[in-house]
Amino acid sequence: MDSLVVLLLYPVNAYLEQELDRRFTLLRLWEHSPPDSLFRAHGSAIRAVVGYPGHKVNAALLDALPCLEIFSSFSVGIDHVDLALCRQRGVRVTHTPDVLTDDVADLAVGLAIAALRKIPQADRYVRAGSWKAKGDYTLTTRFSGKRVGIIGLGRIGLAIATRVEAFDCPVNYYQRTKKEYPNYTYYPSVLELAANSDVLVVACPLNEQTRHIVNREVIEALGPKGVLINIGRGPHVDEPELVSALVEGRLGGAGLDVFEDEPNVPEALFTLDNVVLVPHVGSGTHETRKAMADLVLGNLEAHVLKKPLLTPVV
Ligand code: NAP
Repeated sequence: MDSLVVLLLYPVNAYLEQELDRRFTLLRLWEHSPPDSLFRAHGSAIRAVVGYPGHKVNAALLDALPCLEIFSSFSVGIDHVDLALCRQRGVRVTHTPDVLTDDVADLAVGLAIAALRKIPQADRYVRAGSWKAKGDYTLTTRFSGKRVGIIGLGRIGLAIATRVEAFDCPVNYYQRTKKEYPNYTYYPSVLELAANSDVLVVACPLNEQTRHIVNREVIEALGPKGVLINIGRGPHVDEPELVSALVEGRLGGAGLDVFEDEPNVPEALFTLDNVVLVPHVGSGTHETRKAMADLVLGNLEAHVLKKPLLTPVV
C-alpha cells in the first residue's frame, strides 16, 4: 500500500494523518513553503490528494499534479471541488456522507435551542456574577412546538426533522424535489418556506442555485421573531444582509456554524445578544472525525486495490 504517494492539504485530523503516514507515503502541503517547491519536487509522483472544504480543488492544483488519480475529501460537502474538471481529467472524487449526519443534526437543534433560550448568554450572565448582582435572568423564547423550516431535506435535513418532531415542532421544507413525507409540509420556494417557519435551517449543499439562497427577502419573510440556523455553508446566506437584519431587529436571532469568509466572522455579530456563534464544528466530535478519517482511508485503500470506491462522487 505504501506505493501510493498521498498529498494531505491541511492538518485536518491527527488520527487521519497518522494512518495516512502508516499506510502510504505521505506528503504534507503545509510543510513546504512555497507550495510550488513541493509540486516541482513531487508533482508527478502524487497520485492521491486528501483535502477539506477550506482548500479548493481546481485547475491550478490539478495542473500541478498531472498523475493525480483520486481526491478524497474529509467532508460530505464537495463545493470546493471542480467536479466537472475532475471528471474531464479522470480524477476520482470521494467524500464522507452519513457518518457525520447525526452530529450535524444534533448541532442544528442545539443551536436553535441555544439561540431561542439564550443559553450561552445566560451562561455568561452567571460567570460575570450578574445573577448575584442584578437578579434573575431575562425571560427567553420556547423552542418546543415552533415551526421548523428546513432548506434541503437530505441526509442531514431529515435527521434534523426527526429530532425536532420529538419537540412537537411541525416540519416544513424546501428543496428541488418534493418527497412523499406525510408528516412534513413542502413549500415550492424558500420565500414561502421562510414565511411559514419560526426557525429556518439551512441544510442543503452549496452550489450556484443555493449561493445566497437566504437573501434579504427571505430574511424579511422569516421576520423579527424568526431565527435562522446555518449548518450548511457560509455563502448560503447573504452575510451583510443577515448582519444588518440582526442589528436592526428585522430578524429575531441566528445560530451560525458557518460563515462566508471563515475564519473571519463579522465583528458586528460579537456584540449582539440574539446570536449564537460556533466555529464550523458541525462534524467536530471525536467519534465522527474518526469515522470520517476511516472513510477517507477506506476509499484510498479501495482505489489502490482496484475495488469499488466506498463513497464515490466522481
Ligand atoms: P444530501 O443528503 O445530499 O442532501 C442535500 C439536500 O439538499 C437534498 O435533499 C437536495 O434535494 C437539497 N438540495 C440540493 N440542491 C438544492 C438546491 N439547488 N436547492 C434546494 N435544495 C437543494 O446532503 P447532506 O449529507 O444532508 O449534507 C448537506 C450539506 O450540509 C453538505 O453539502 C454540506 O455543505 C453541509 N454540511 C455542513 C457541515 C458542518 O460542519 N456545518 C457538516 C456536514 C455537511 P434536491 O436535490 O431535491 O434539491
